[in-house]
Amino acid sequence: MTEMTCVGQGRPGADAPGAAAPGSAQAPASATSALRVLRDVFGYPAFRGLQGDVVEHVAGGGDALVLMPTGGGKSLCYQVPAIVRHRAGQGVTVVVSPLIALMHDQVGALEEAGVHAAFLNSTLDGDGARQIERELLSGRLVLLYAAPERILTPRFLAMMDSLHERGRLALFAIDEAHCVSQWGHDFRAEYLGLSALHERYPGVPRVALTATADAHTRRDIVERLALAQARCFVSSFDRPNIRYTIVEKDSARTQLLRFLRDEHEGEAGIVYCQSRRKVEETAQWLSDEGIPALPYHAGLEADTRRRHQDRFLREDGLVIAATIAFGMGIDKPDVRFVAHLDLPKNIEAYYQETGRAGRDGQDADAWMAYGLSDVVNQRRMIDEGEADEDFKRLQRGKLEALLALAEAHDCRRVRLLAYFGETRPAGWRCGHCDNCLQPPATWDATEAARKALSCVYRFQQHGGLSFGAGHLVDVLRGKSTDKTRQHGHERLSTFGIGADVSEAQWRGVLRQLVALGHLRAEGEYGTLALAPSAREVLRGGVQLLLREPALPPRRERGARVARGAAAKPPPLPLDAAGQSLFDALRAWRAEVARAHGLPAYVIFHDATLAEVARERPDTLDALAGISGIGAKKLEAYGQEILRVVGATVQD
Ligand code: ADP
Ligand code: ZN
Repeated sequence: MTEMTCVGQGRPGADAPGAAAPGSAQAPASATSALRVLRDVFGYPAFRGLQGDVVEHVAGGGDALVLMPTGGGKSLCYQVPAIVRHRAGQGVTVVVSPLIALMHDQVGALEEAGVHAAFLNSTLDGDGARQIERELLSGRLVLLYAAPERILTPRFLAMMDSLHERGRLALFAIDEAHCVSQWGHDFRAEYLGLSALHERYPGVPRVALTATADAHTRRDIVERLALAQARCFVSSFDRPNIRYTIVEKDSARTQLLRFLRDEHEGEAGIVYCQSRRKVEETAQWLSDEGIPALPYHAGLEADTRRRHQDRFLREDGLVIAATIAFGMGIDKPDVRFVAHLDLPKNIEAYYQETGRAGRDGQDADAWMAYGLSDVVNQRRMIDEGEADEDFKRLQRGKLEALLALAEAHDCRRVRLLAYFGETRPAGWRCGHCDNCLQPPATWDATEAARKALSCVYRFQQHGGLSFGAGHLVDVLRGKSTDKTRQHGHERLSTFGIGADVSEAQWRGVLRQLVALGHLRAEGEYGTLALAPSAREVLRGGVQLLLREPALPPRRERGARVARGAAAKPPPLPLDAAGQSLFDALRAWRAEVARAHGLPAYVIFHDATLAEVARERPDTLDALAGISGIGAKKLEAYGQEILRVVGATVQD
């Protein structure tokens, strides 16, 4: 296999982008026309991160593999080249996407921006499909979205042959390219057939895109899609606008409610739970508390699921309580928070799930509550699972890494990025996670850990039984209960040896011991037993430095925090007049969205409306300067927006 050239950002060892910045004096012609497209069509002033380099390379006919985090802006990496190439007479871009449910909104967004696009999938009837096929063959279409199984049908291949003969096949964009890999969890067998595109149309450039970063998946993509010659663009996986907070579960519901009320009133978000039942209960309870919420899990009727997802996408400020069945293909940009009421499986899953927050680049929260029972459950699920010992070891290692993140007392972001192979200089702090905003105190739990383990040892010696964490903590703290009396545990030498350590601290110690595998959780009740490695701890050979259980950090609504150097400055909060104009603009947008049958964010993003509310433009020229208002939208909505601004400003 040929070595790939990798262009990276924020990754030591990757080459620095070599091309001239688009828009600079010596930028090549394709770059300047790409920038013009970005500004005129999408209304954005500049490319983000590696976008400019990708666009230039692909618009110029090169193959590319693009790795960018969710919200990084992958769509423009093929949409802008598609427009540039179509304008140059090179024809249509075919976008392969597994997410049929999303095609409608994506095409809607392009048409709103004045780009002729369509999709072909099973939701169309015969007439509808034939109409689109005619558009395709006529050469008028700029982008066509289709699922892989559709693209590989003889009928579709014949149409592409005809376009190809006339030089009207401009580009293939393969979205969610990790679906070609069996390594991940989104494997789609039809993706394997996509290497046929390269064999059949060798001259047509291809761009494959994914947010899945690990090396194994990447190798699979390169091999199976025959992209060895492609240039690979690896963006930093940091999401600077997401604030990470991990709290110790105390009473999870109250904690969640406080978080939602203090920080996210009236905003859209996802609450992940482990079981279907908990999803149902959480949605019900949130609704009872006056927070509009819907459940989503694989056990619901397909129809109900679709309806709930649709409402979440289309309505403002809805919360969805969901299992991990909810997520892939949710490209709603204004999800303001992702909350976890249960521990995710591993760091990859955590990062993917939290990554659904804040795709629009505005402030967003990743919030998680976790506790000892999470650790015990997950550990037991692995231990008692059917998998072979090698796989179990791998899973335990991944759980340990996640718990290390949860228990960390230093910057969460540094740890997350390090997990994905992105290192930061020693001492670097992001300034936008709970530990940076409110550094927790730490305490040396080495001695406490030894006490806990010797207490478990005494239980086993004394009656041959093992007990759960609650009882263990009672004995350590010297609390007299029915159970301590019944089992004669008040006579143990370990009764009351840890009275100086608080209950919350003890839970932290036990979490660590389970996480590190020194204590094993067993049976239906998760009783705790010594593992062989406990001996090392008992001998004092393992030092434990734990975070002091602390109150969650609070932030005034609307108040902004200082950020690490890499983040862009956040926009100023709106004043009262600005806020009422913003509300008026949102109400107007909701009407337009309803009339067009599209989600509100497809018409305009919140960020665009907020900028209008701040700037209060009074001419079309001034309006055109606002990010997110391209030529077509200016023409379609400019007068209307000026009218709303005028009417509200006069009030
Ligand atoms: P991804 O597919 O990588 O998750 P998207 O392509 O959906 O990300 O982009 C995320 C959001 O960022 C979208 O709402 C998009 O409009 C916006 N965006 C992308 N590129 C830019 C840019 N250069 N300037 C402003 N906004 C952008
Ligand atoms: Zn931090």
